[in-house]
Amino acid sequence: MMIADKFDVFLFDLDGVVYIGPDPLPEAVESLRRLRKKQKGIRFLTNNPCTTREKTAKRLRTLGIEASCDEIITSSWVTAQYLSKENIKTAFVLGDQNLKWECQQAGIDIQDQVDVDAVVVGWDDQVSFHDIKKAASMIEKGATFIATNTDKTFPTPEGPSPAVGAIVEALRVSTAKEPLVIGKPYPHMFKEALRDFHPSSQAVMIGDTPYTDILGAHQAGIPAILIADNDFKPYPSARDLRNPDVVVPHLKSLFDDNINIKPSVTPSFSWPDNIKAGVAGIIFDKK
Ligand SMILES: [Mg+2]
Repeated sequence: MMIADKFDVFLFDLDGVVYIGPDPLPEAVESLRRLRKKQKGIRFLTNNPCTTREKTAKRLRTLGIEASCDEIITSSWVTAQYLSKENIKTAFVLGDQNLKWECQQAGIDIQDQVDVDAVVVGWDDQVSFHDIKKAASMIEKGATFIATNTDKTFPTPEGPSPAVGAIVEALRVSTAKEPLVIGKPYPHMFKEALRDFHPSSQAVMIGDTPYTDILGAHQAGIPAILIADNDFKPYPSARDLRNPDVVVPHLKSLFDDNINIKPSVTPSFSWPDNIKAGVAGIIFDKK
């Protein structure tokens, strides 16, 4: 059975799956149109905190992809929802106007001079040492430390640029406090994405990054499809949750009768954030 017929709900990462920069990826527009025709549930999940749900929906529609605001799950919006749910009233936001706007829509008062309930880390190329120092002191005084994501870099024409994770790390090492992380691979965005669907619906995640999209889906108990070239090398351990259930070159493969997906196993233990290769030595000795 083709993958498109096997699931009720399709969760899409955006950058590298649906579009790259200003252009849609090959087969993305047509494949999404075909899923709509089959009346499938569709959600778009992006870790990018420098956008709003409305802007993302508009961007997709500009590319010829049907999308409503309710179908967009950004780390900025989910962060704002989290703050509101946790009864956080004031926040210092290290991030751009889009993240601040989503927080304000959720009723959060953005402050930068007084003590706040939370420090929220997004991304802004104007973030200064002064801002980091201020945020660190607020965290030291008890503000909840919240990260929109912990992505290490993002691609630019000049090469990889430090991303949200770089700012988070500066605060983590200087305060010795661990952040609460909203974005993939953590569960918040997956929970929001599935909220409107019946618990018995079969969902699948489609992404291009093993350590966010694939790991996050598997931790949430959802099978995961990796969009990648033929040169993807699986992680050595078959139980490594970053390994996808199937690798496909583009979204058209969802409609290929010859491409199957093996059901994933719900993890029974929590997976460490950082997995490092190790070497063990065993010495055999007569004694
Ligand atoms: Mg991506």
